[in-house]
Amino acid sequence: MAERLTHFIGGQHREPASGEYFESTNPATLEVLYEAARGDAQDVAAAVDAARTAFESTSWRRTTPTQRGHLLRRLGDLIGEHAEELARYESLDNGKLLREMRGQLRSLPEYLYYYAGLADKVQGSQIPTTSPAMINFTQREPLGVVGAITPWNSPLTLTVSKLSPALAAGNTLVIKPSEYTSRTILRLAELAHEAGYPDGVVNVVTGLGAEAGAALVDHPGLAKISFTGSTGTGAAIAAKTASRFIGSTLELGGKSPNIVFEDANVANAAMGVVAGVFAAAGQTCIAGARVFAHRSVYDELLERVTARAASIKIGDPLQDETELGPLAFKDQLEKVRSYIDIGTKEGAHLHYGGQRPDIDLPGYFLQPALLTETTNDMRINKEEIFGPVAAIMPFDTEEEVLHLANDTQYGLAAGVWTQNLSRAMRMSQNLDAGTVWINTYRAMSPMSPRQGFKSSGVGIEHGLESMHEYTRLKSIWINTDEGPVADPFIMRG
Ligand code: NAD
Repeated sequence: MAERLTHFIGGQHREPASGEYFESTNPATLEVLYEAARGDAQDVAAAVDAARTAFESTSWRRTTPTQRGHLLRRLGDLIGEHAEELARYESLDNGKLLREMRGQLRSLPEYLYYYAGLADKVQGSQIPTTSPAMINFTQREPLGVVGAITPWNSPLTLTVSKLSPALAAGNTLVIKPSEYTSRTILRLAELAHEAGYPDGVVNVVTGLGAEAGAALVDHPGLAKISFTGSTGTGAAIAAKTASRFIGSTLELGGKSPNIVFEDANVANAAMGVVAGVFAAAGQTCIAGARVFAHRSVYDELLERVTARAASIKIGDPLQDETELGPLAFKDQLEKVRSYIDIGTKEGAHLHYGGQRPDIDLPGYFLQPALLTETTNDMRINKEEIFGPVAAIMPFDTEEEVLHLANDTQYGLAAGVWTQNLSRAMRMSQNLDAGTVWINTYRAMSPMSPRQGFKSSGVGIEHGLESMHEYTRLKSIWINTDEGPVADPFIMRG
């Protein structure tokens, strides 16, 4: 029988109330890796109770910001010590290259160290008043129990991006990881326990989105939901949190443009296009899936990108030489394939790839696909595919491409390839995207804020600003005048 993983609630592992489990499968080999607890409303209630008790307990409530910084640093160290194990588990679960996951795990402690440094820099301010006797100041307070719901594509990085600022600010957490990647998030909770976090500060309920995820969103004990996932799920969550007047941070989908001007270094731009949409098998929110090439460099770019796509080594994600692993699960493969069909039925030409590659492994493999003769208003260019599928379109003027790039419901990221500084500046000012890369793609760090514009999200992750997503601001007034109140019917300030 497959190994069974249970929830982590109140500092210990706990069987699911229903007694039910679901399987997690290796998408490269189709072997069952383990079974994870299938959480429901009862498990969520137990986890929120544990998190609420921890939030109100003196052992957590009385930690100083400096102590919370130490705890985050210790957790960062432990993640660093377990980096190889965690990278391997992530790769087995979601099929991403072990190489890529090792890279993510190497930089992951830096996220915790960054927020460890911020923990004691969250502060209010003293506000001027109109009366010399009156003192007014603000303070930032933790919110309470934060529900964190995360996707499968970079499970630890995306979860740590929520956990670190939430814990630095003094909140407690209930995390619901994606049903495709439960294992490393459970390991994260175990490592937090080992780092010395009091019981109940970090809880994990595994399970399906419609069950454990929905139960978490519906739980009245939450002070906030921090969600990363698809725009559709994000919209449903936003409707619920808005009706309960609780905050949400939503990091959602994208359909990012990657724009190559006539004055670009086309060889570098071609690598940027490949990095943008074929790295991670295109299973990244920031995938540069809409490639716009100036008509004068269109043929050269297409040739270079096609040549590199055709030489991509597809195979076992655990092998160092592999460049493209499988898609993460069966529905994902079918969805990506169906979009290629939709595109060709709409009139696009499948210029390269899009077929099952000829390899020994039985998993969900797909060649990278390049579509030409597409227009920005086709479904394949309007909807997020979340796979290794790029549409390449020519343009003639900067004004035209700016309009096309912004003509989308999404606003997550954009790439621009040009050697003209003025053009780079103009484009970065006018692109309607939360992140703009000039002559690079997919660069990020814990220091740099990330925000999705339009349907790509609400709220900020990473950077100084993200701390405010996990605090509330209180204004405190103190009257130092102990004399009689002259007129109770006028406001003071
Ligand atoms: P998803 O929306 O299907 O699921 C995300 C999480 O939500 C999972 O844990 C899932 O179980 C849970 N969930 C599903 N239905 C739910 C419901 N009704 N109530 C509560 N929780 C529910 O997304 P996914 O397929 O896991 O991830 C891919 C998506 O995530 C893509 O759209 C991608 O662009 C987006 N993403 C965004 C960012 C970003 O920073 N903007 C980063 C990574 C991924």
